[in-house]
Amino acid sequence: MTTVSTLPWAAAPAAGNAIGLYAKWTPALDAKIEAALQRLREVSIAHGDGLVQSSSLGAEDMVITDLIARTQLPIAISTLDTGKLHPETLALLPRIEERYGRTVEVFKPRFDAVVEFVAREGEDAMYKSIELRKACCGIRKMEPLGRMLAGRSAWITGLRREQSGARSDVAFDEDDGNGRRKISPIADWTWAEVWAYVQKYDVPYNPLHDQFMPSIGCAPCTRAIAVGEDFRAGRWWWEESSKECGLHAKD
Ligand code: SF4
Repeated sequence: MTTVSTLPWAAAPAAGNAIGLYAKWTPALDAKIEAALQRLREVSIAHGDGLVQSSSLGAEDMVITDLIARTQLPIAISTLDTGKLHPETLALLPRIEERYGRTVEVFKPRFDAVVEFVAREGEDAMYKSIELRKACCGIRKMEPLGRMLAGRSAWITGLRREQSGARSDVAFDEDDGNGRRKISPIADWTWAEVWAYVQKYDVPYNPLHDQFMPSIGCAPCTRAIAVGEDFRAGRWWWEESSKECGLHAKD
């Protein structure tokens, strides 16, 4: 099995080390960690089995999984396998199970829907138009997310205000527009603080973060970013869009 992605979309920068590049413990971080844990405890008590962490397996979500597992909170952990993820991303699943003894429930798109869409629009449909890209996200992400959240009253995300202008007002606890609470316990953390936590607690992370991919989605829709580019510039980089797939879009 292939375990390392080639990076066809951009001349890959020399691999760095995300911890070395980004980690910076701040005076506020101890209090932010305790506040995030308190939010997780409260939402776990309030929602019980109705609560799930929807993990993208990115650095922020790995921090949250670590917070949940280290404090033995009874919160289910789930992810979406779109069928287009990098092998490095999928390789985190057994690492999480080995490290934390937690099983990650994986939700995949409907096979027939994917086959029909690819047969009709092609394997590279996402590059042809925003409509087709959103249709692909609908089949591979939104539909399985709906199954993940069915019967749940709250979900946990790794959204941070610093990630983009569209996310600058992310609340710790908000209505997701579908009658559920959406909890973003590290909404106020900086990228430097995320990596300081990863370093301190030796959190497993996607090695693609070492290759200048701060935001990692599906392989065809993620590229490395250059110095000075926005955090999410490597997502759907060919589009002039809000860089959202629908999971967290407000419009
Ligand atoms: S991110 Fe790209 S490959 Fe993944 S579901 Fe959306 S359009 Fe399809």
